[in-house]
Amino acid sequence: MNRSTLLIGGCLVFAAACSAPEIQTPAASAQVTLFEGARLITGDGSPPLENSAFIVENDRFTKVGRTGELAAPPGATRVDLAGKTVIPALIDAHSHIGYMKDLTSGPQNYTRENILDHMYRFAYFGVAASQAMGTDFGELPFQLRDELLAGKHAGAARFLSAGRGLAPIDEISPNNMRQAANVVTTEEGARATVQELAARKVKIIKTWVDDRGGTIKKLTPNLYRAIIDEAHKQNLRVAVHATGLADAKELLRAGIDVFAHMMSDVDDELVDLFKQHPKTVVLLALGAPRRTIYAPWLNPPHPLIAETVSPGQIRRLQERLAGTTPAALADGRQAWDRLARGIVRLNAAGVRIGVGTDGGGQTGDQFIGWTMHTEMENMVAAGMTPAQVLVAATRTSAEILGLDDLGMVTAGKSADFVVLNANPLDDITNTRNISSVYLRGKEVERSKLKAKWAGGGQAN
Ligand SMILES: [Zn+2]
Repeated sequence: MNRSTLLIGGCLVFAAACSAPEIQTPAASAQVTLFEGARLITGDGSPPLENSAFIVENDRFTKVGRTGELAAPPGATRVDLAGKTVIPALIDAHSHIGYMKDLTSGPQNYTRENILDHMYRFAYFGVAASQAMGTDFGELPFQLRDELLAGKHAGAARFLSAGRGLAPIDEISPNNMRQAANVVTTEEGARATVQELAARKVKIIKTWVDDRGGTIKKLTPNLYRAIIDEAHKQNLRVAVHATGLADAKELLRAGIDVFAHMMSDVDDELVDLFKQHPKTVVLLALGAPRRTIYAPWLNPPHPLIAETVSPGQIRRLQERLAGTTPAALADGRQAWDRLARGIVRLNAAGVRIGVGTDGGGQTGDQFIGWTMHTEMENMVAAGMTPAQVLVAATRTSAEILGLDDLGMVTAGKSADFVVLNANPLDDITNTRNISSVYLRGKEVERSKLKAKWAGGGQAN
């Protein structure tokens, strides 16, 4: 048992409020830091702790309380965070990593260097972990996952992979990712594929149930029931891309664990089905439906975009959005309003909502890491409170991905947190006002990363 486990015994939330044993003098090699004075949002949905103090020993939070109540152990470094707000590092539960690279997107970019670059980009934006949803291929993602989870690339976010997703035909949209599909045509084949992925230690199986506007044949219920049943036998969860209301109902009846997108409509029956399946989570992925009608961060580009994305890539998205026809704009507004009404209903019914951006999934339109912040803004615009969105983006998303040591600022968890210059409970876009990011107790060297990207390079 390590020291942090000993310290948290019986005292999981605020160490100062209960009788945790005093910290012993840390071992000579331990790095101990006392962070004082910040408004602390712990990630559990409770009101913020004003004038907080917390101790980080090596890579863990060991005590959380108020300034003046926590004694700094001998030799501890002090960091004054007065005027700042601290949140747990964010988690993106749905992304497509490794494809995008400046103006191109495709399997030719799927290299060790590019995947690592993306994980440094997540870290830069305060994201501690991201789950690639079914578009990885080969051995590389599993090697990199293991390296990143073991902390072998200091300052990079953790990477999780669902491996190759299960599709009925070559149904992965967009086209440039289709070669990654695990094509399933029989129940036996579907089960065998799930078993292969289980052997690669994925935590989530990805599948698609979408006829893309009637253009393709979608996965049939017998096949997705076999996928879900086999995954559950292997202790895995299944995440589905399905936006149709009827499909969503049938998937809930089949025991689906995660919806990777918000469904286009919500009715009473769907709400009832969610109540019967309270563990099922919805990730909303609102970037694509909202970007067309609302992207003020692009004109002029937000500083975080300007310092991480090439001018050509920014210009391309500006031109795409400027080319939206009035009819497409009107359609986009209508679709957004319908989505938002559905989100309000699910949220009011207590349905579990996490954060998944679908970032990296469309050519050039989704800037890696940045989409986390627009997604949270979109969730608030859809009717959730900033406090609810912060829990979704931290604790809930960590739970979805099975990352037990992330998602909260509490004793015993990995010390992954973001220091903000302004309070995101007042305005969710304050999550972009980043002062510093810490992963595993170490400050991410954001100025170095910025300098590399400014020179057009990759961060490794
Ligand atoms: Zn996706």
